[in-house]
Amino acid sequence: MDDQAWHAKSIEILTDIKAWRQAHPTATFVEIEEEVHTRLMELEAHVLQDAAAASKRRAWGQSTDTLAPLCPTCSVPLQARGKRERTLHGNGGQSVTLSRTYGICPKCGSGLFPPR
Ligand SMILES: [Zn+2]
Repeated sequence: MDDQAWHAKSIEILTDIKAWRQAHPTATFVEIEEEVHTRLMELEAHVLQDAAAASKRRAWGQSTDTLAPLCPTCSVPLQARGKRERTLHGNGGQSVTLSRTYGICPKCGSGLFPPR
């Protein structure tokens, strides 16, 4: 999603919450909290999915136009060692699986998931 889509989504959620509040004028604090939480989880799921899609685009080790990240200790490019999957869990219970390229440092031999 681009910034405009994000903006539209946020407004939509806020509008939904306001509309719900008007339709439920006697809702208790707990009920309101629950409703707000449900709506925000929806936004959270979008944020996570967007992050997952972005990390796919950043895959390295497959083409020459994406540079391998450097070992934080030796500052040499990591060698790609295939894909590893990592599942992130949102607070609302939704999960997103990220597929990241796993790298090994040819100098010190330490393996790591690049942070990006
Ligand atoms: Zn190293």
